[in-house]
Amino acid sequence: MAETKNFIEQIIDGELEAGKVTAVQTRFPPEPNGYLHIGHAKSMFVNFGTAEKYGGKCNLFFDDTNPSKEKTEFVQAIRADIHWMGYEWAKEVYASDFFETIYEYALRLIREGKAYVCDLSPEQIRDTRGTLTEAGKESPFRNRSVEENLKLFTEMRQGKYADGEKCLRAKIDMASPNINMRDPVIYRILRATHHRTGDAWCIYPMYDYAHPICDYLQGVTHSLCTLEFEDHRPLYDWVGVSLGFAPKPRQIEFARLNLTNLVMSKRYLKKLVEDGAVHGWDDPRMPTLAGLRNRGIPVAAIKDFCERVGIAKSNSECEISYFEACVREYLNAHAPRAMAVLDPLKVTLVNYEGSEEVDFDINQLDPQAGARKIVFGKTLYVEKSDFALDPPPKYYRFKIGGYVRLKNAYIVRCDEAVQDERGEVVELRCTYFPESRSGSDTSGIKAKGVVHWVNAETAADAVVKQYDYLLNDAEYAGQDFSERMNYDSEHVFSAKAEPYLNEVADGSAFQLMRTGYYKKCTEQGKLCLSEIVSLKDNFNK
Ligand code: ATP
Ligand code: MG
Repeated sequence: MAETKNFIEQIIDGELEAGKVTAVQTRFPPEPNGYLHIGHAKSMFVNFGTAEKYGGKCNLFFDDTNPSKEKTEFVQAIRADIHWMGYEWAKEVYASDFFETIYEYALRLIREGKAYVCDLSPEQIRDTRGTLTEAGKESPFRNRSVEENLKLFTEMRQGKYADGEKCLRAKIDMASPNINMRDPVIYRILRATHHRTGDAWCIYPMYDYAHPICDYLQGVTHSLCTLEFEDHRPLYDWVGVSLGFAPKPRQIEFARLNLTNLVMSKRYLKKLVEDGAVHGWDDPRMPTLAGLRNRGIPVAAIKDFCERVGIAKSNSECEISYFEACVREYLNAHAPRAMAVLDPLKVTLVNYEGSEEVDFDINQLDPQAGARKIVFGKTLYVEKSDFALDPPPKYYRFKIGGYVRLKNAYIVRCDEAVQDERGEVVELRCTYFPESRSGSDTSGIKAKGVVHWVNAETAADAVVKQYDYLLNDAEYAGQDFSERMNYDSEHVFSAKAEPYLNEVADGSAFQLMRTGYYKKCTEQGKLCLSEIVSLKDNFNK
């Protein structure tokens, strides 16, 4: 079957055929003002993925034109996240590497009458910009002489003016139907210490002006970005044409990844961290890549999800359950199985003595995975929810007089439920059938239900963590995030687990049988099982 190409690949194929480009160069352009999130995984998938497909290169480009919000901490976290995703950048580049050249290009625009120093305040500029239906008003400073503009702009750089007192604007068209083309500000005065250039500059270029220049200077052929930049493309092209870039990089926009029950904007995520609503940027409930990594989500599942969602030209919202289905599918195929009982109820096998080993399939879907031994014994734990004192029809788990198979071991009959003084069931007393052992069952007894269990004599105590979404459902969408916050999204309790889980490496993912996928870790010397995704599939295919 021929591979179907996405619309970006179709464009590139056409250009390659027409000889317009010979090699593909892209860049992944995060602003170092926060941690990357799953939306950025999509952007990486597009930028690194497209370069890879064409044997081209992708740079890591730090868009650091906004010094007040950017930090070296974020630069380091971004690098680590990209590596975790398995991508390698050709070069690491910063907008600030080009500040001098970007400044010289501005002088050139001034000399050619394409930019002017404007004394209007940011508010006045906004107020004279016009609307979608009305043209803007030309600035009274629009027709300054080249000499005067050069002098003023040089003085801006020298620090002669206060923040906001003047700015540099591109001289384009105040009547353009595209508001971005109405003499946009391309330089502002800002006294802020930059995380790389320190206090060397007190003027900073605006993103829309700097980005096409940085793309060009890196040799980017395709500047792939999200749809909100579509209206900025005419300005992107104006900069390239005005400065005579050849070959001029081409901007192509694709749809953002949006997921239900999640908010990805860094601004919001930062607020969650600052307000202490989560434990940090890498909290397992966070949609940051650091959070997903900490949660135990495999990279392969993230990439598979990006692949399946595809690259579209129009925005839409994707169900979070679709992402979870991809994670579940991957883990189902790859995660070893283990048993843990989250809400333990003691079972005593009245006619069993001693102990023995039984075989346990590491992953029944993967015959190569083999089996390991687990120890069976007289006292066990099963889930409280697997017993019913007053069972509904067709109930095949523990009920008085009912037969149940203990996973990979024996069939037992539940004879008695021991209750405490408050009437709560605290123990099940059962009879086991020696001939019913899994793999060599000659008992002839039928047991429809199979339940997981843990040997009470060897069980390890485990701290279990389960998670809900940070944001309440889609029905609240449109409401303010603070009103949608779910403040009860982390549930911690103790459970009983196979002792085997104490021996496996921290960070490994397991399917806890009949429960879900969990990551093993050690917290304060204790075994901890942290939920990756439940077994229940809510995704409606
Ligand atoms: P945020 O609003 O979350 O802060 P951003 O767009 O400001 O995101 P940048 O660091 O500027 O974050 O983004 C780097 C690149 O990642 C940009 O090209 C941006 O378009 C892309 N990107 C950001 N969010 C998404 C998303 N949800 N889906 C796809 N691409 C995204
Ligand atoms: Mg941004």
